Amino acid sequence: MNIHEYQAKELFKEFGVAIPAGCVAKSANEFDAAVASLGGDVIVVKSQIHAGGRGKGVFADGFQGGVKLVKRDEAPSIAAKMLGNTLITKQTGPAGKTVGAILFTEANDIQKEYYLSILMDRASGKVAIVASLAGGMDIEKVAEETPDQILTMLIDPDIGLQSFQVRKLGFFLGFGAKELMKQWTSIIKGLYRLFWEKDCSMVEVNPLILTVSGKIMALDAKVSFDDNALFRHPEIEALRDLHEEDPKETEAGKYGLNYIALDGNIACMVNGAGLAMSTMDIIKFFGGNPANFLDVGGGANEEAITQAFNILLKDKNVKGILVNIFGGIMRCDVIAAGVIAAVKNVGLTLPLVVRLEGTNVEKGRQMLADSGIKLTTADSLADAAEKIVKIVAAENK
Ligand code: ADP
Ligand code: MG
Repeated sequence: MNIHEYQAKELFKEFGVAIPAGCVAKSANEFDAAVASLGGDVIVVKSQIHAGGRGKGVFADGFQGGVKLVKRDEAPSIAAKMLGNTLITKQTGPAGKTVGAILFTEANDIQKEYYLSILMDRASGKVAIVASLAGGMDIEKVAEETPDQILTMLIDPDIGLQSFQVRKLGFFLGFGAKELMKQWTSIIKGLYRLFWEKDCSMVEVNPLILTVSGKIMALDAKVSFDDNALFRHPEIEALRDLHEEDPKETEAGKYGLNYIALDGNIACMVNGAGLAMSTMDIIKFFGGNPANFLDVGGGANEEAITQAFNILLKDKNVKGILVNIFGGIMRCDVIAAGVIAAVKNVGLTLPLVVRLEGTNVEKGRQMLADSGIKLTTADSLADAAEKIVKIVAAENK
């Protein structure tokens, strides 16, 4: 789960991490008061969406920049152009995201920008702290072009962040002077504690800055959480912004279905994440485009399959459906019954290709054949993918 910058900064404050003074507003009539609560002649107006690259983003109506430094009396009118507008950045995809809140902050005299993140390193089974001297830039690009600008420190989760590691990172970033090291220590310790205590999957600060007057602080904040641990943190769950999530994905979550919307036109219903991935791959291989990733799970029953059909059909791009289910724990006849009932319940009219394999497969196939439902059966993964790609292509010429 992701949260907004202003929410992440509230957490930073709670964990003792320095941030610029700021105030969030969710409607235009709150703008004046929000700006009035801040000092300085220049105000930073920041669109709140769950995506980075806002500064260089462009709005759907052509207005440039989702983060702007402006004179204080212009801040409310600039904010009014952003609120409710659709911001398109490198991270949003071409559809962009609607701005539902504006964060106003005081502007800082920046001496230097840095990059800092804390995330899980699956390969080592440790927590990784990534620090870079090239702040405000894509970390992927820095890693590729100037890897010497990055220091990655692996933290043993059983031991936690050690003082020598804090100092090593601090010296790398040039915070060797006593006063800077003191600030750095409380920032990195606070961020690590946040990462650990709130079960984050990532905490990213891009940029972390050093001001002209020698203060280190987090100018930007991006925090995401491990969904599997959310039950331990109702206060984090409360920060969820459903406007930022695909309603189909939210709906799927309620039924225990793992669903991710994609931009193709062939819907897939599969049991098991690995099988779902290979099904998507093979659709691509035959020249088609998957509309989603959907893993209905090992014990999918008739209700789950009906709900899955309902969710798939809410995507108006879908032109055909491929059901690819392996009956392991689940028997194929039970799955066939589920598919037949679901197709009848939702009144499916789109082309449907079904491939069943596994326990009781003969019985399952027979049930599909006897059901009177218009569908195409397939007897291998490749056969199924080829069939649905061909049918969809032929019907949408
Ligand atoms: P994004 O990463 O989504 O583009 P940021 O919050 O990182 O948004 O802001 C983009 C850029 O705007 C920063 O890299 C920084 O140069 C500038 N900026 C943001 N906040 C401030 C501030 N308080 N003072 C001065 N410049 C700022
Ligand atoms: Mg940023």
